[in-house]
Amino acid sequence: MNPVIEKLLVLQDRDKRLLELKGALARVPMERAALASREAALTKGVEEAKDAMRHAEAERKKTEIEAAAKQAQVQKYKTQLLEIKNNDQFHALQHEIAAAETEIRQIEDREIGFMEQVEMLQRKVQAAESAQREAAGQILLQKKDLETREAAMNAEIGGLDKERASLAAELEEETRSRYERIFSHRNGQAVVAVAHGMCSGCHLKLTTQTIHDAMRDDALVACTNCGRLLFHTRGNL
Ligand SMILES: [Zn+2]
Repeated sequence: MNPVIEKLLVLQDRDKRLLELKGALARVPMERAALASREAALTKGVEEAKDAMRHAEAERKKTEIEAAAKQAQVQKYKTQLLEIKNNDQFHALQHEIAAAETEIRQIEDREIGFMEQVEMLQRKVQAAESAQREAAGQILLQKKDLETREAAMNAEIGGLDKERASLAAELEEETRSRYERIFSHRNGQAVVAVAHGMCSGCHLKLTTQTIHDAMRDDALVACTNCGRLLFHTRGNL
């Protein structure tokens, strides 16, 4: 095989891997952001449940205070009742007491409603907290995995960059830039085999002359259709 083609094939192999790694590396921030937003959603779930519970508890407390105030008023009326001599006034006050007691029962019913709400919301807080706890371990593992993968990819890229530089240095400037141009325009496929009389890059039939030229070891031959560099090993005609 043409020694230049051989070098280009090695370079292409490294370049393909670099492309793959850089693509994966570029997705790391997105993966990290997805983990962070999952974490934030779990925290938000807990906070919202807690807020709702605090609100219900505050409402319950208000009804408790309201009931106590009404209760005190009833006590005051009852004391006044003992001092009243006038019948009409006595009945009027008794009526007030009955009305206040009815109100107290209504307030207490509301309080029970809030207590039930608080209990339900407490369970919701616990569920949100346990979902957060369970996911936290998993998220931590995923974050560590992401960091490990990122470090490994960076290390591999570093090694490949060096290797690539020394491979590229062995090539003539013109050959290298021609290869790089095709590589970037043809989806990382710059050097392709002749297979069954066709260019394996664009799959179009090659002329006998092109195939014959691709077998030579002293020149670079390009597909007349797609411009990819061709190589031919005996047996793949
Ligand atoms: Zn082609």
